[in-house]
Amino acid sequence: MNDFHIHLARLPQPISLARTLQKRGLHFNAIACEPWEWEILQKMEGSLFEGSTRSYGIHPMVAGDVTEADWERLESLLENYPEAGVGECGLDKRYGGYAEGDLQEQVFIRQVELARNYHRDLHIHCVGDYNRILKVLEDCGYPGKKSNIRSRQRAPLVHPVFHRFGGDVSIVSEAQPLSPIFSLHLDSFRKKSTLAAIPLIPSEQMRFETDADETFVTTKLLKNESADKIADALIEQLEETEQLIRNN
Ligand SMILES: [Zn+2]
Repeated sequence: MNDFHIHLARLPQPISLARTLQKRGLHFNAIACEPWEWEILQKMEGSLFEGSTRSYGIHPMVAGDVTEADWERLESLLENYPEAGVGECGLDKRYGGYAEGDLQEQVFIRQVELARNYHRDLHIHCVGDYNRILKVLEDCGYPGKKSNIRSRQRAPLVHPVFHRFGGDVSIVSEAQPLSPIFSLHLDSFRKKSTLAAIPLIPSEQMRFETDADETFVTTKLLKNESADKIADALIEQLEETEQLIRNN
């Protein structure tokens, strides 16, 4: 099992939780999308990420807070962790700076360029217009053709990852040339237009996620519970999500 998008640093006792998840056979992609989260992941031993991955980025909700020093740190994290992805990053109409060309887009473009230049997966957050996301990826030349990256010819193919996917049929088909990954959350099954799109996603492009953060533990009343109990809840939610595919 793999939780493809989890905010480990926002959950209680991230170190013992990572160890517990590992013991229980649940791999994960730990998303750190604010500088304080980067720090927590950085303090965690590399062995906690065996079979798992991590991603560093800047979430659109904090696009207005990012400093040049943060950009420098983000770049050095990508240099230090060659297997790390970029993100989550993207566009969200609920936060300031969403308009075309505005702050969110600038911060997103800069991360798309980082992912392209460092040849990394890009974990994309989109609450709003998926077509704008596709346009930015196209304008930035992400992910780029493998043959264009001369020194990294044997590097694995990288992917745009549409996290907590909520797009429709047209987005699944228009994204195909980019070798996309669609990461499904329980919420992905709530909207009619996304429900219609899910059966068109090839199985090799499909992943599952909890997107668990501090609200996951508060809504499930797990704030003061053990790492084992939190792991139970994460596994249960992932199984429930995967089950929806079998029933669909
Ligand atoms: Zn997230």
